[in-house]
Amino acid sequence: MAKEKRVVLPIFGENKPATVPLPGGTGGLGALLPAIRKLSSTVMAESETRARAAGLKVSCKTGCTACCHQLVPVSLIEAKALATALARLPQKQLKEVKNRFAHVLSTLEKNGLIHPKHDQPRTSLVSPGDGSESERWDALSRKYLELNLACPFLIEGRCSVYEERPFACREYAVTSAPEHCATLSEQLAPLPRPVLMTQALSLTVDRLEDAAPSTLALPLALEWVEARGAELRTDHDLSEAFDVLFESIEWQERDGLWAD
Ligand code: SF4
Repeated sequence: MAKEKRVVLPIFGENKPATVPLPGGTGGLGALLPAIRKLSSTVMAESETRARAAGLKVSCKTGCTACCHQLVPVSLIEAKALATALARLPQKQLKEVKNRFAHVLSTLEKNGLIHPKHDQPRTSLVSPGDGSESERWDALSRKYLELNLACPFLIEGRCSVYEERPFACREYAVTSAPEHCATLSEQLAPLPRPVLMTQALSLTVDRLEDAAPSTLALPLALEWVEARGAELRTDHDLSEAFDVLFESIEWQERDGLWAD
């Protein structure tokens, strides 16, 4: 049964209180998603409040899908939640999303951004750039945008898994015009994100699961879940797992976001 837990989020150099729904007992790390979503929305609400105080306005609007053409990273826990949400869609939509995944994967193959199917599952894309991990991801993201691939979950301009959408989507809001999202131009002005929940979850997976890598590019999510999703543990002490996750949030605030 879910209890409430009060926490103090260290963000923007201040301590922000929040109350999260915390499931009791044991289970998979996915059971923590409602609590992490609450933390994520608290962080982003604070970020938006600060932007408004600085005279800025979030320009994201219903119907704008510019960011749904960007490459999205997902932790393994989000990958599993997405696969579960997909399985619940009506047959017609489910088939459409699966076809879209196949189209995205074959386009990535044709453009040398993914190795052809051999050992399943594939766990990484091939960056056209070099340098640090963040520089390679940046080069990959730009090349991905050039391919103009809509997210496989985007159907008729709407996210078909909106309630389960990844943290990278939840935590993306900009004060710049949509065309900058479509090109990742230098004018792109995202709201500051002092904590990235995808990274917090990935660190938690690194510490509590025997699965690697802990983060995937979204187009690889279904393939991974199909091949290895059953390996994720379902016997975590959820209260202890939340504490591990919260530690990784505190690390991000103290040490900064990952950048190698
Ligand atoms: S998961 Fe949903 S919100 Fe995120 S990129 Fe895909 S369609 Fe857009």
